[in-house]
Amino acid sequence: MRVSQLLLPTLREVPAEAEVISHRLLLRAGFMRKAAAGIYTLLPLAWRVILKIERIIREELDRQGGQEIMMPIMQPAELWQESGRWDVYGPELFRLKDRHGRDFCLGPTHEEIITALVRGEVNSYKQLPLLLYQIQNKYRDERRPRFGLMRGREFIMKDLYSFDRDEAGLDVSYNKMFEAYTNVFRRCGLQFRPVVADSGAIGGSDTHEFMVLAESGEATIVYCTDEQCGYAANEERAEAVPPAEKDDAAALEPKKVHTPDCRTMAEVATFFKISPARMIKTIIYTTEKETVAAMVRGDREINEIKLYNALDCIRLEMAGEETVRKATGASAGYAGPVNLTGVRLVADPEVMALANAVCGANENDHHLVNINPGRDFTPDLVTDIRLVKAGEPCPVCGTALQGARGIEVGQIFKLGDKYSKALGATFLDENGKARPFIMGCYGIGVTRTMAAAVEQNHDERGIIWPVQIAPFHVIVVPVSHKDQNLMETAEKIYHALNRAGVESVVDDRPDRAGVKFNDADLVGYPIRITVGAKGLAAGKVELYLRRQGETIMVPLDEVVETVK
Ligand code: ATP
Ligand code: MG
Ligand code: MG
Ligand code: MG
Repeated sequence: MRVSQLLLPTLREVPAEAEVISHRLLLRAGFMRKAAAGIYTLLPLAWRVILKIERIIREELDRQGGQEIMMPIMQPAELWQESGRWDVYGPELFRLKDRHGRDFCLGPTHEEIITALVRGEVNSYKQLPLLLYQIQNKYRDERRPRFGLMRGREFIMKDLYSFDRDEAGLDVSYNKMFEAYTNVFRRCGLQFRPVVADSGAIGGSDTHEFMVLAESGEATIVYCTDEQCGYAANEERAEAVPPAEKDDAAALEPKKVHTPDCRTMAEVATFFKISPARMIKTIIYTTEKETVAAMVRGDREINEIKLYNALDCIRLEMAGEETVRKATGASAGYAGPVNLTGVRLVADPEVMALANAVCGANENDHHLVNINPGRDFTPDLVTDIRLVKAGEPCPVCGTALQGARGIEVGQIFKLGDKYSKALGATFLDENGKARPFIMGCYGIGVTRTMAAAVEQNHDERGIIWPVQIAPFHVIVVPVSHKDQNLMETAEKIYHALNRAGVESVVDDRPDRAGVKFNDADLVGYPIRITVGAKGLAAGKVELYLRRQGETIMVPLDEVVETVK
């Protein structure tokens, strides 16, 4: 491609609205233009980067047995009503009506569509596991679309869904995706870290986020400085963090007042062979709907935040965030445990019933531990339950945690039977018994990954693309367009490189060399080959490495070999 023909509208000025580096540089370097808030057109060079990222993703997912499909962007409301998300997803969901008045939404994610598909088409355990994915535009009416491609309202996502017969199968699928994601981000040339994320329940690690480390990241992560330990988490994650002081440790011991044989919910879960995580989730979801609904109606005080173990975690899901925050007085930005001082805590009735079945007594006599402040533990203890934070001890080994900023480029998540149960998606097992699929979902923000690459790879002059995802590898620059010899030599090199499979452009514009050099640095080609009269007289051209800032003189007939 000749630069004179390329749609690559570089800008001298920094656009005023662009706050972060990637937003500024992608606009300035002519990679994209805004159509509306959080909605962009990707120009040719950006699209080349996107296609390269997508190719890496496809290779890594296909290697793990993924099958690519394409689902509709426009989704019928009925499926979302079946899953229960039509009412709880909130204003982030783009909703629309067809000419007959039927409700639809633009897919922010595709659990409903895929679960309905598999419900209809897969009916035997013999067809499992199944890994289906797509790469497609997603729509989320973000409260604050900003930072260019980082938080758009229309963006490209790769989403994969796994279907297994049981939890063990899900573990295998999850680990495959963990490996695929690690390979994808490594091959994109990014510095990243997988962290345990906030899954709405404590314990285990049934969700990880892949964080690209960058100052502009909206997420705060913490990691353990002890490399042997390796603990790393999103700061939104709540853990039972061991107290820093010894005295606190004593205070944090649950105060079992009534009976020596009262049970923790986790013990009850074990006794009944229910996964504690499952039980916790059930409790949280029930609580949220009831409590939030009641608070919205205003006919009830918030008095039924249920918890399973005050020492571990108290959580409400994000859907009710605004209301819950108001009701509890939790500070802005709340995304995890709430300050529950003055709130009465009760166990989920179902869990209470189970507990009583084990203990064989009533709530006041034999009861679950850590249910009532005052009775089971000191009330201030509740406020001590916290999110993992920099400077505090690592919940695994106790070493001080370090903080860092990160950009969430991907997330993997064990869903279990949440959607398959809601939508009645079952298969027949070896004994002919119908069982719900055990699912996982796995997303990568493709456009966000491109922006993250720029955040991590730039200097004051512009972008420095990692070679693996660079739009072109080489730009050939004749220093004067008036010198026929230079122009012809540049053309020759450009053709020779492309023939050898090195993706190259030639800057044939009638501009000063300085303008071309500045543009080349701004756009971020990994290699610039400068064809000048002096060098050429000695049979050489100058090879400039963008990342290293180094220049070497190379004989004309060795250019292709050197670059390859
Ligand atoms: P965030 O916490 O940044 O809002 P999310 O957790 O809501 O992201 P997921 O539902 O996990 O996002 O979606 C999978 C991936 O899609 C994310 O890891 C991210 O890379 C990407 N993504 C999510 N929202 C956006 C957005 N508004 N613009 C660009 N990419 C996005
Ligand atoms: Mg989001
Ligand atoms: Mg997130
Ligand atoms: Mg996420």
